[in-house]
Amino acid sequence: MPFLWSVVDTEGQIFGNRDLDSNSQVTNGLNFSYPGYNETLTGFADSRIHSNDNVPNPNVTVFEWLNAKPAFAGNVAAFGAWDVFNGIFNRESCGFVVNAGYDPLTEIPITPELKMLNDLKTETARIWPDEPFDPLPFYTAIEYVKANKPRLLFVGLGETDDWAHAGSYAEYLNAAHRGDSYIRQLWELVQSMPEYRGKTTLIVLPDHGRGVGEQWTDHGEKIPESKETWMAFLGPDTPALGERKEADPVTESQVAATLAALLGEDYHAAVPLSGVPIPDVLGK
Ligand SMILES: [Zn+2]
Repeated sequence: MPFLWSVVDTEGQIFGNRDLDSNSQVTNGLNFSYPGYNETLTGFADSRIHSNDNVPNPNVTVFEWLNAKPAFAGNVAAFGAWDVFNGIFNRESCGFVVNAGYDPLTEIPITPELKMLNDLKTETARIWPDEPFDPLPFYTAIEYVKANKPRLLFVGLGETDDWAHAGSYAEYLNAAHRGDSYIRQLWELVQSMPEYRGKTTLIVLPDHGRGVGEQWTDHGEKIPESKETWMAFLGPDTPALGERKEADPVTESQVAATLAALLGEDYHAAVPLSGVPIPDVLGK
């Protein structure tokens, strides 16, 4: 992951190297996707969320909470490979664009690039019925950024998880490497746009960890190490401390309030169940 270990490692912060006494983890106890995304996006683990079924989230995400404010209304969007993001974000009721799975993007004017992406979603082989390969949601999100310039954007990639479950270590590494290049492309795109340059923060994290040794393919309640995650931050408010050593532990439940605080909003006060913003990321 050369972008992470060059630009983010020198200009941002990376949590999660336990050998350096920097711990990052989920707190939901289940160590799989929907509970992890719910924890990250709402700021708290919820025992009602105990499966990956594509059902409406009983909670309001920090994305929906921000979109309800005039300064953010219509300026929020979420793109994901996994079709369950439709449930996690409450696509039907959240009030912002959620595009996930094999659904075409129809909310912005069609361009040749978008037509091609929508055609490919329909026509490429479906190895996984709930999730296309990562390039399709990623480049769809890029088209959206160019067209609508949202203030808050979510991009969820899925291939590392799928290839790991399939036991394909080569494709797992390829997917991680490609994911890193996507993070770079997104960062370089926004730095080329005056609406974003110098005032945008990138947050990167997984929704759970994986097992160690022969259990690397899997994760979940029965694999305790898979609660261990990492998270990275890059932006103008975050001091350049690089890979963190001897840092206070961080949890995925702190990301929602941290994200809001970077945008000048106090999510933790509004949702006291949520984890507190990470002080080191805010330079406080
Ligand atoms: Zn998985």
